[in-house]
Amino acid sequence: MNIKESLNNIKSQIPEKVALVAVSKTKPVSDLMEAYNAGQRIFGENKIQEMADKYEEMPKDIKWHMIGHVQRNKVKYMTEFVTLIHGVDSFKLLNEINKQALKYNRVVNCLLQIKIAEEDSKFGMSTQDAKELLISEEFKKLKNIKITGLMGMATFTDDSNQVEQEFKKLKTTFDDLKPLQLANCELEIISMGMSGDFKLAIDCGSNMIRVGSSIFGARN
Ligand SMILES: *Cc1c(COP(=O)(O)O)cnc(C)c1O
Repeated sequence: MNIKESLNNIKSQIPEKVALVAVSKTKPVSDLMEAYNAGQRIFGENKIQEMADKYEEMPKDIKWHMIGHVQRNKVKYMTEFVTLIHGVDSFKLLNEINKQALKYNRVVNCLLQIKIAEEDSKFGMSTQDAKELLISEEFKKLKNIKITGLMGMATFTDDSNQVEQEFKKLKTTFDDLKPLQLANCELEIISMGMSGDFKLAIDCGSNMIRVGSSIFGARN
C-alpha cells in the first residue's frame, strides 16, 4: 500500500469522532505531502527542530502536534505555530510554554502526559501530581496555555491485557479530572493508541490516535 492507501485504510477503521495524528517523524517532506494531498491535515513530530523545518516548507493549513518529550529551552522554536503539545509533564515546562505563548499573544493548547506504563523509561506524571498541578494557585495564573486533555503511552509489549489495563488507567484518570472546570483547563481529548494498538485504545476511550509506521512505513 502506498501512503494514501494506508491512510485511507486507517481512516476506514476509526470512528469519525476520533482524530488521527499522522506521525511523520524522520520522514521526508515528500512523504508528508503525499498524506497532505490525500487530505491529512494533522501531523505529529517528536523533535521540535524537525517540526519547525517542516512547518517552514509545508502548507500553512497544517495542524502541527508535538508528541515527543519537550525540552524547555526549545519551546520557543515552536510556540508561534504549534497546535497541540502532547507531552507536558511538569509545571516548569508549562510555565515556560506560557511565557513564550505570551510573547506571541497566543493561547497554546497542551495535554498533560500521564504515566500509565510500568516501564521506567516512559515520561509522564502520576494522576495525583496532575491533580495537584491543576488545582494549584500557580496554575490558575497561566493565561496563555490551556490544558485540553491527557496523553499516555502504554508499555511496549505483546501482552494486550497489560496494554488494555494501562489504557483504562488513562481513561479513569481523565474521568477523575474532567469535572475540574477552570478557565485554562477543559478536558476533552484522550490521546492514546499508536499503529499497533489504536483499535484497543479507541475501545478504551481514546478520541485521538497517533499513528506513524502504519501510514508512512517503518522508520530506520
Ligand atoms: C513515534 C510515536 C508514535 C507513532 O508510533 P507508530 O508505532 O509508528 O505508530 C506515537 N506516539 C508517540 C509519542 C511517538 O513517539
